[in-house]
Amino acid sequence: MASRTPLVAGNWKMHFDHLEATYFVQKLAWLLRDAHFDYKRCEVALMPSFTALRSVQVLVEADRLPIRYGAQSVSVTTQGAFTGDVSADMIAALGCRYVIVGHSERRKYHPEDDANIVDQVRAVLAAGMQPILCVGESFEERRQGIELDFAVGQVHDVTRDLSSDQAAKLVIAYEPVWAIGTGMVATPESAQDAAKAIRDDLAATFSRDVADGVRILYGGSVSSKNAVELIGEPDVDGFLIGGAALDADELAKIARMT
Ligand code: PGA
Repeated sequence: MASRTPLVAGNWKMHFDHLEATYFVQKLAWLLRDAHFDYKRCEVALMPSFTALRSVQVLVEADRLPIRYGAQSVSVTTQGAFTGDVSADMIAALGCRYVIVGHSERRKYHPEDDANIVDQVRAVLAAGMQPILCVGESFEERRQGIELDFAVGQVHDVTRDLSSDQAAKLVIAYEPVWAIGTGMVATPESAQDAAKAIRDDLAATFSRDVADGVRILYGGSVSSKNAVELIGEPDVDGFLIGGAALDADELAKIARMT
């Protein structure tokens, strides 16, 4: 089986202006340095708002920090008369490695349907970055017992039009909607079941090699209280973290456990 470097990604959502973001990155780097953290063993990435990306880039480059970063969304068009949009090339020019695509909050509050999400994934890949594709069922689908089919279906909607090379660059975040920001975390077993179902579907669509190389994160109320058990599951390769990623001590703790 391909060995996958775990990824701990902080999704800051609409928190932290550029000064707060800079302070946070400095503090996190200091905490991890103090703990002799090995960034080769576990990758750490932050997803600031657009307004903070340039400041994070300047700091990361000036201090040569091994922390990666990315954006929370992207426009599907490359340039033109699209007021308020930000293109993948603009994001890539800021040194971003990742872009979150299809987060449930974007699916809910913005007109981001499956077709738009496929286009975002393509735009991110074309600009040389990696999409962190978010999928996951709502409480209703879980109540009906169709959560695995639902999450796999969301992945499949995106991957069916990708080449193997493109699929290999995906990071997938399984984030049950009912677990996001609620304090209700999925059990390690159900996170594993979903991650495995997604990986098996990737193997069926592409190849076992591609499937074994793709990192599948869990997201939804991750904290230092539940990270160890979740990361113990064989198909869970790290976390996409919201609330707990707003506290540098907590995020450093989770990174050290991962
Ligand atoms: P949460 O958010 O950790 O606050 O549940 C996760 C996410 O929305 O990515």
